[in-house]
Amino acid sequence: MYRIGEEEAREVARVIAARKMFRVAGDNPDHLHEVDRFEEEWARTIGVRHALCLSGGGTAALFAGLVGLGIGPGDEVIVPAYTFMATATAVLLAGAVPVLAEINETMALDPEDVAAKIGPATRAIIPVHMLGIPCDMAALTGLARDKGLKVLEDACQAVGGSFRGKRLGAWGDAGAHSFNDFKIISSGEGGALVTDDLTVYERAAILHDSGTAFRPHAGSFREPIFLGQQMRASEIMGAILRVQRQRLDGILLDLRRVRKEFLAALADVPGLRFAPTNDNDGDCGVAAFFQFDSETAARAFADAPGVGGKLPIDTGKHIYSNWEPILSRRIGHHPDMNPLDHPKNRRLRTEYRPDMCPRTLDITSRSVYVSLNPDWSAETVTARIDACRAAARA
Ligand SMILES: *Cc1c(COP(=O)(O)O)cnc(C)c1O
Repeated sequence: MYRIGEEEAREVARVIAARKMFRVAGDNPDHLHEVDRFEEEWARTIGVRHALCLSGGGTAALFAGLVGLGIGPGDEVIVPAYTFMATATAVLLAGAVPVLAEINETMALDPEDVAAKIGPATRAIIPVHMLGIPCDMAALTGLARDKGLKVLEDACQAVGGSFRGKRLGAWGDAGAHSFNDFKIISSGEGGALVTDDLTVYERAAILHDSGTAFRPHAGSFREPIFLGQQMRASEIMGAILRVQRQRLDGILLDLRRVRKEFLAALADVPGLRFAPTNDNDGDCGVAAFFQFDSETAARAFADAPGVGGKLPIDTGKHIYSNWEPILSRRIGHHPDMNPLDHPKNRRLRTEYRPDMCPRTLDITSRSVYVSLNPDWSAETVTARIDACRAAARA
């Protein structure tokens, strides 16, 4: 979260004063419809037909997307080896099996390795737009079309970003956004699922509302009701997100401006190499990404005075080799509910080893990212750029 202030506070106060914090309207004519309105506005912003806001965050949005797509036991879903663990968690929550694929130098899912990893049980691909960097959605959706696979985008870290002018989340059959505290816009927690597919939307909505116990309009759903969970957003969350949404394009404009200043000022510095990108204009500008020939060189640059760089390999649960509960097969609250032991998953690829994606380990250990801020002053941007230049020379 970069920007929040008086406007959000005022909107929350309004919801509380009205004593209308529950999103379900019933037949109350005074209902505020904050979440309903946010969902309409969000669908329009991303450029899709349907959006569903969830209190459970990006993880819940991914889970709901998979359930919406009908993914479950007996299905493999390809996920990148460089992503927050929640991407794989969501696959397991749906009862399916995550299969790891390598990233390439763009720091995003490598379409060639995805093609190599597709097996007879593969049903879907989850491209993850890490740190606002767009995956090659043309290659990945083309591949999915050829092989009859579904695409669920994990745009949790790339809210508002785009690839070839189309927003991330709108390329796949469905997309997931997160609004937790670390993301581009935020309500503290929360997330959204976006899709053009009414079936996906209805199944996700049923899942997120304890079997639509509370949703009167679920009476019009075509999909049969099943028992679900409770991940409804509150009107307070809706009110905050409506203001945050209005801030989004301004935040992206400034983040991208800062990133492009870094690119322009450091393009010709010997020893400094920017990570190649699938879409320079669509990148959210959350970070400037550099690559080096060795981990030693990457560390020296990251730790140089004033650079504030970070190696992706050091970011804990964002690297598959640190997904300890998955590597040690401790999944689910009860041993008899472990999806990896489901009879339909027994013949699938359920073995996870810390060394199985060596290229991802290599790339993430000789890359450095510098997190950017849309509210840095011109002096701060210049100081950061100068620090990078000095570090490259040293
Ligand atoms: C943050 C994040 C998620 C999960 O989002 P939550 O809102 O914390 O559930 C999923 N995938 C990626 C890549 C993320 O960064």
